[in-house]
Amino acid sequence: MAKQVVVLRYGHRTGRDDRVSTHCCLVARAFGAERIIIIGKKDEKIEDVVKKLCERWGGPFNINFSTSWREELQRLKAQGFKAVHLTMYGKPLQKVIEDIKKCDKIVVIIGSKKVEIGVYEESDYNVAITKQPHSEIAALAVFLDWYFGGKELEKKFKDAKIVLTEKDEKPRKK
Ligand code: SAM
Repeated sequence: MAKQVVVLRYGHRTGRDDRVSTHCCLVARAFGAERIIIIGKKDEKIEDVVKKLCERWGGPFNINFSTSWREELQRLKAQGFKAVHLTMYGKPLQKVIEDIKKCDKIVVIIGSKKVEIGVYEESDYNVAITKQPHSEIAALAVFLDWYFGGKELEKKFKDAKIVLTEKDEKPRKK
């Protein structure tokens, strides 16, 4: 069974988080997730960026907005998804990744502002990627790479108008 990954972006704040949330979308798609759910007010600018990205670079990749992380999580769990929350207060990635890799359907939760305790409690795994504070974008990229074991680096995107090949690997000017 092919792996299914949904990213749940917790606590998106319109305006303040626009750029970071957009980058979460870019990383989620490029590193093998099939969908992102952003918890916050619907933002047509972010939706538009993702739509245009998929038109040019291929898909499938979907974006949805929702006001309730709990409802989204419950719905996904009812469909058999395991919840993986990325947080520096979790268990080290290197110690839990083999267990998580056994799950074919996962929802990866990444925060922005302080994440409420319910998210920790509702998650099947709370996973730390180092015990240092850094960024949801970095945490997502590292997690997906470990989950897919590097296979996502060769993912092919359907209906892409642009595909970079060896021809595009320009030699550096000296
Ligand atoms: N200030 C917030 C707090 O106290 O919870 C966290 C802010 S951090 C910039 C945003 C998100 O990045 C976190 O919710 C988490 O998903 C991710 N993150 C940051 N450092 C992490 C780490 N060491 N391991 C896993 N995820 C991390």
